[in-house]
Amino acid sequence: MDFSIPDELQVVLKKAREFVEQELYPLEPIFFEQGFATVEPELHKKRAKVKQMGMWLPQIEREHGGMGLSLLEHGLFSAEIGRTPLGNFAFNCQAPDSGNMELLLQYASPEQQEKYLKPLLNGDIRSCFGMTEPDFPGSNPVWMGTTAVKDGDDYVLNGRKWWTTGGDGATFCVVMAVTDPNAPPHFRASQILVPTDTPGFIIETTTPFMGHRGESWASHSEVRLDNCRVPQANRLGPEGAGFLMAQERLGPGRIHHCMRWIGVCERAFDLMCQYAVKRDISPDRPLASKQFIQGWIAESRAEIDAARLMVLHAAWVIDNHGAKAARDDISLIKFTVANTMMRVVDRALQAHGGLGVTDYTPLAMFYRMERAARIYDGTDEVHKLSVAKRILQRYA
Ligand SMILES: Cc1cc2nc3c(=O)[nH]c(=O)nc-3n(C[C@H](O)[C@H](O)[C@H](O)COP(=O)(O)OP(=O)(O)OC[C@H]3O[C@@H](n4cnc5c(N)ncnc54)[C@H](O)[C@@H]3O)c2cc1C
Repeated sequence: MDFSIPDELQVVLKKAREFVEQELYPLEPIFFEQGFATVEPELHKKRAKVKQMGMWLPQIEREHGGMGLSLLEHGLFSAEIGRTPLGNFAFNCQAPDSGNMELLLQYASPEQQEKYLKPLLNGDIRSCFGMTEPDFPGSNPVWMGTTAVKDGDDYVLNGRKWWTTGGDGATFCVVMAVTDPNAPPHFRASQILVPTDTPGFIIETTTPFMGHRGESWASHSEVRLDNCRVPQANRLGPEGAGFLMAQERLGPGRIHHCMRWIGVCERAFDLMCQYAVKRDISPDRPLASKQFIQGWIAESRAEIDAARLMVLHAAWVIDNHGAKAARDDISLIKFTVANTMMRVVDRALQAHGGLGVTDYTPLAMFYRMERAARIYDGTDEVHKLSVAKRILQRYA
């Protein structure tokens, strides 16, 4: 296992860091105070610059217009652009589009690729992923209420979804729906591409989330499917493979999230250290001279470094042995890094005193919005249970 960073990649990472600091940090106050829709036109201009710089779609192969980074390399890249909540959008590697791109690359027919994948890769449209339902536990994704019933050449979909991230303004949704209720649980659901302007695809509201409903990509829709009719040709991949495809989508996606969270940690850490040396607590004594703060800094550094190595190791296993071989690693990093991020952001916020809870730094936003990291893409509890079960099997 070699985590040394080749010179060529060092240059790319430096360029990404400079872009984030110079072009995206200045947009953050607009996002924090006026919302995503206000900052979105500026972000589209930044996207054009990203394309010119050859840093578009870091997670996608070169033949499809991306940078062609390995998962490990993309992990390192994500840690740079994850320093700002606007980073992934600017580079067109934001969830849920990045996962949908991977799904479409692997499973879409040539017609589906032309209609949905190409404009998504180009950044002309956005998409969403509708799996979780208000009336069923997301922790048990093989148990869901949404159905897709065949009628002639079509599927007719009925059901409710929520936490459909980025549904507002998305052009299509990848909907998970039960196509065969009598099949074994893991083979009941399929993934179906539903254009959001299809009659019967109804966005009822965006969910209020930590004090904000958000809008556009930075929001989460509640969707009702009411006799929503799409051609059977819109099914993605084989019938009944929806659950397995969702699992495949989530493996690399968790590396993306975890390395983005390392970026959040690094930003919070920098802010904590910068403030500690700058803020005088008495006429000639900076905050940094206090042992409380020194302890937070040492603990945070150790925890971030440990978390980073765990994620890079998981990415290396996926790159070299496939996602299945990395199942334990993926579960371990998912809850470890999410919790590391919570602790580091909390310490950085506390070190800033009252300033920490204002929107003059990104810390309050990280504190509010990143709490969900312990819930989406598998809750802490579900990951702990599944990894512990597999470990215990080896001892049984
Ligand atoms: C910000 C955000 C964005 C999201 N984006 C999307 C998206 O784009 N598309 C999408 O489809 N979904 C999305 N989700 C949904 C997310 O995947 C689910 O919220 C998650 O899977 C948990 O499901 P649930 O909310 O139904 O909780 P439940 O399954 O009802 O679980 C409730 C609690 O019970 C715990 N629990 C469950 N099983 C056990 C057990 N066996 N033992 C002990 N405790 C247990 C869970 O850990 C959890 O704490 C998003 C969620 C959030 C918060």
